[in-house]
Amino acid sequence: MKEKIRLVDDSGIRTDGRKPDELRPIKLEAGVLSNADGSAYIEQGKNKILAAVYGPREVHPRHLALPDRALLRCRYHMAPFSVQERKSPAPSRREIELSKVIRESLEPAIFLERFPRTAIDLFIEVLQADGGTRVAGITAASLALADAGIPMKDMVAACAAGKADGHILLDLNDLEDKEGEADVPVAYMPSINRVGLLQMDGQLTPEEFEKAFNLAIEGCKRIYALQKEALKAKYLAIKEAVEEAGQK
Ligand code: ADP
Repeated sequence: MKEKIRLVDDSGIRTDGRKPDELRPIKLEAGVLSNADGSAYIEQGKNKILAAVYGPREVHPRHLALPDRALLRCRYHMAPFSVQERKSPAPSRREIELSKVIRESLEPAIFLERFPRTAIDLFIEVLQADGGTRVAGITAASLALADAGIPMKDMVAACAAGKADGHILLDLNDLEDKEGEADVPVAYMPSINRVGLLQMDGQLTPEEFEKAFNLAIEGCKRIYALQKEALKAKYLAIKEAVEEAGQK
């Protein structure tokens, strides 16, 4: 029989040294790619993910254009070197599903009706994966959309919570995701109080689910603050560069 790995020790500390309600270290940067209309990069623990946005632009093929709103297209892709066993570069069923759920979690945030007959194309490239890539991908994607200047009702922050070793934990890493009992990814727009993604993998009692959901929302709020900081940092850098050029 497979021996069960201990994921939380007697003092409540996880294998990576975190407390149950602690996020992994997060680094977020906006405007990292010069050839995309908007872009962002996130590191969340060992996850490394790039998001790039093009548009609103003409739709090809043209028959896909919608008369009353922009068409949002999303491709979530894991690089072959993003996991320990080389992943086939061909789109897997998982990547097709994640592309759809990520698109659906972002659609409610964007004023798509302002850009009829156009397309907004979003690319999420997972360079290194360590659990929770769909939520980290959504966090980076909404920062990239904001960086592209696409009008949004709110930024979408995403985070998962789950259960491992009988404990409700925030922001599961790959080991906790694989060895744990459940995972609840959530995408949330704090200033309009709207949930755009809610999934559950595994088993939880109704009470555990409520606890995990509330913890994930708390994680989203903390990530939202980091997204705003990343946007501000980009515009502050531009302002400083303009001022410096003006002084010369
Ligand atoms: P998420 O990344 O959103 O948590 P999953 O629950 O499907 O999505 O995947 C959990 C983790 O499993 C991923 O973050 C990644 O670390 C790992 N993983 C996913 N696909 C593969 C794969 N093809 N090979 C190895 N590891 C994978």
